[in-house]
Amino acid sequence: MRDGVLNGSAAVQRRAMSKAITLLESTRADHRAQGDALLTALLPHTGRAFRLGISGVPGVGKSTFIEALGLYLIGQGHRVAVLTIDPSSTVSGGSILGDKTRMEHLSVHERAYIRPSPSSGTLGGVAEKTREAMLVCEAAGYDVVIVETVGVGQSETAVAGMTDMFVLLQLPNAGDDLQAIKKGVMEIADLVVINKADIDKNAATRAQAQITSSLRLLGLHGNPEHAHHDASLWHPRVVQMSALLGEGVDTFWAAVSEFRQLQTANGRLAARREKQALAWMWERIDAGLKQAFRQHPQVRELLPQLQQDVAAGRIAASTAARNLLAAQSGQALEATN
Ligand code: GDP
Repeated sequence: MRDGVLNGSAAVQRRAMSKAITLLESTRADHRAQGDALLTALLPHTGRAFRLGISGVPGVGKSTFIEALGLYLIGQGHRVAVLTIDPSSTVSGGSILGDKTRMEHLSVHERAYIRPSPSSGTLGGVAEKTREAMLVCEAAGYDVVIVETVGVGQSETAVAGMTDMFVLLQLPNAGDDLQAIKKGVMEIADLVVINKADIDKNAATRAQAQITSSLRLLGLHGNPEHAHHDASLWHPRVVQMSALLGEGVDTFWAAVSEFRQLQTANGRLAARREKQALAWMWERIDAGLKQAFRQHPQVRELLPQLQQDVAAGRIAASTAARNLLAAQSGQALEATN
């Protein structure tokens, strides 16, 4: 057997992890109860990993990059888990990320664990499953967890909301179209990687300069703290890379390590995780309440007509909402006119 390729005990652990994640993904009520018990048992063994979010449009080189980075990190003694959030799989059942054979060498390495996106549910639901899968990986001893998503929909925000650091991959011509800036994704990037720098070094250097100055402007407008140069704070930066040739991976990881040290020392890493955990709780409460609301018999009865009335301008949206909420809580309906 080739060194590092899955051996017996690694295969056993991997099967146990996959079983645990499948249990957590199940929507059956009894599975959910078992899943919650499992999470409670795992939780004390989680939190020591570094959680890295990676996004970029299809074709930018995410899987090539994660394969190169993952193998590099394994070479440094790390264990690497890769999880994906693929919004296309929840909308259409099709998948942008899962179709091809991805990360050929990493996927068979005994120190790596790769799990594709949960394939049904809302983005919020899929994000919840991915957060829980992340905890399973951490408890199993993976010390770098990569969460990958495609640059479509709202999935970048979901990934940034569950990781310690959010990295955006861009092509060397990205400085020209500024798509990410328009979409507001640049604001949440802690690090931007210009991939495929081997194709056009000049374009990559231009993109690096352009995005660096855009990030500086975003920092000035969005976060007043960035206006002052403060060495204890992280300032988003841009690096070049050729994932295909494996060039720039060490520079990338040096920046990630610096980020981690700085954010640990200034308390922002812990604060970010606290905020994320509470936001996660509230997001799930909101989703649960909304689902219960929509299933309430009185609401189901009133909703179709009220929706028509709101759409046609016969009743104010806020009045309709109040009436539906009152119906759900069993209060007498207010007069609607
Ligand atoms: P993904 O859709 O973002 O996961 O992108 P892939 O990793 O599948 O890469 C898309 C294509 O770009 C593949 O043909 C890769 O071989 C190629 N590619 C990825 N990284 C680089 C790079 O750094 N340089 C060059 N020249 N090609 C790359």
